[in-house]
Amino acid sequence: MDDGGRDDDGTMTCGSCGWQVAGADLAEARVRWTFGTERGRTVWACERCSRQHARSIEGKLDSAWW
Ligand SMILES: [Zn+2]
Repeated sequence: MDDGGRDDDGTMTCGSCGWQVAGADLAEARVRWTFGTERGRTVWACERCSRQHARSIEGKLDSAWW
């Protein structure tokens, strides 16, 4: 099996912290996680890491938003 980053093999792996979800958690993860592309690969970021990234990128966001 390929390493993380793919969303078509039944698992999703966070590219930042390595958190992996599978099975029943996938549907929710697909909604809540975000993804970007790094060097041609799809890289997922879990809920928690997404928040941290969003904060560092958009420092102006009200903390109440999250
Ligand atoms: Zn993560």
